[in-house]
Amino acid sequence: HTILMGRLKGSLSAFSRLQSNMSAWVIDEYGNNGVLRFTEEATAPSISSGDDVLIRVHAASLNPIDIAMRAGYGSILLKLRRDLMSLGQNASEFPIILGRDVSGVVVDCGSGVTHFTPGDEVWAAVPPWKQGSLAELVSLSEYEVSHKPSSLSHTEAASVPYVASTALSALVNAGGLGRDNCADKRVLIIGASGGVGTFSIQLLKAWGAHVTVTCSHNAEGLVRGVGADDVVDYTAGDVAAELGRLEKFDVVLDNVGGGSEHWAPDLLKAWSGAKYVTLVTPLLANTDSMGLLEGGVRSGLALSQVAVKNMCNGVFYRWGFYAPDGPVLDDVSRLVDTGKILPVVEATFPFAQVPLAFQKLEGGHARGKTVISVN
Ligand code: NDP
Repeated sequence: HTILMGRLKGSLSAFSRLQSNMSAWVIDEYGNNGVLRFTEEATAPSISSGDDVLIRVHAASLNPIDIAMRAGYGSILLKLRRDLMSLGQNASEFPIILGRDVSGVVVDCGSGVTHFTPGDEVWAAVPPWKQGSLAELVSLSEYEVSHKPSSLSHTEAASVPYVASTALSALVNAGGLGRDNCADKRVLIIGASGGVGTFSIQLLKAWGAHVTVTCSHNAEGLVRGVGADDVVDYTAGDVAAELGRLEKFDVVLDNVGGGSEHWAPDLLKAWSGAKYVTLVTPLLANTDSMGLLEGGVRSGLALSQVAVKNMCNGVFYRWGFYAPDGPVLDDVSRLVDTGKILPVVEATFPFAQVPLAFQKLEGGHARGKTVISVN
């Protein structure tokens, strides 16, 4: 049995080394859904460094950043990052493959990879500066990859990594929360019915926090189903006033931004280390519109101004960002396999219908995740 498995893994590995083309959805320019193009001749990734892991994609999922990147969001900063990775050899960033989540099977590994072997079922969040998962194959570094929870199908698993990595980075690094300090914490999630929200509710409940959320009336069943304690319908009236009648919070995670960044910090317990963390930041949009230097400086100034103003009121104001982190996904995998976190898949599209999946996501009102079954 061991010899047979070894041969199977060896042949998977050899096969991947030979494959030079693959099927993928690519974009050759920025724009609306019309720029998405299916091809069977995309350049297949290969093992180019010792810590690379090559994954055959079984399922992917879409995030708001895919819609935004299709239209050029972050192009300047992301191109800089890509150029640094390829030492400035690429004049153009195109063709770009979108798709930030993958669940699949390892087909090849670099010589220095220690945690994975061909045949392993894995999941990962693909950083926006790397080629995405709307493709047959994706290549990531070992540090970005994690063993997929065995209790989930690939389509279920693909709904989790990007929102999980974002939520964990925001709640832990920016919000100061963790599995050991949540028992007496009150957390407010603004915009809880989408991907990040439905994951964050479950994570915070697994850590023992009290979770209040805002969402539309028709999402109440969903958010209560995944554990929300208190639910405020933001469509029913003055949501800030309604939330102001509740006991104050230790952390606010804002998935909506805009006006909420002005009223939500007032809902925090002052002078107690409480934090407002927003995922809706102007950094990439500013560098797109003003260039790297001016956009970066303006964003930094805006952040420090708001941060100082909030500090004077006794609360912290922070930006949250997605961060690639395979070991963090290992922890999430355990929470999933012990039933503490469930995937929330709203819709699954076949690979042939990727543009329809984009259209669905672009329509807004997500209730969990939109997943693509790749093969
Ligand atoms: P989704 O599209 O999955 O979910 C957004 C949810 O917010 C929808 O369910 C929507 O439903 C709800 N919503 C919209 N307006 C409001 C409102 N005023 N009050 C309460 N709920 C509202 O997005 P994600 O969960 O994946 O991401 C959330 C945000 O975080 C996005 O803006 C995304 O771009 C950002 N993000 C940022 C990252 C970073 O690195 N900074 C990384 C990942 C995400 P309905 O309209 O029906 O109420």
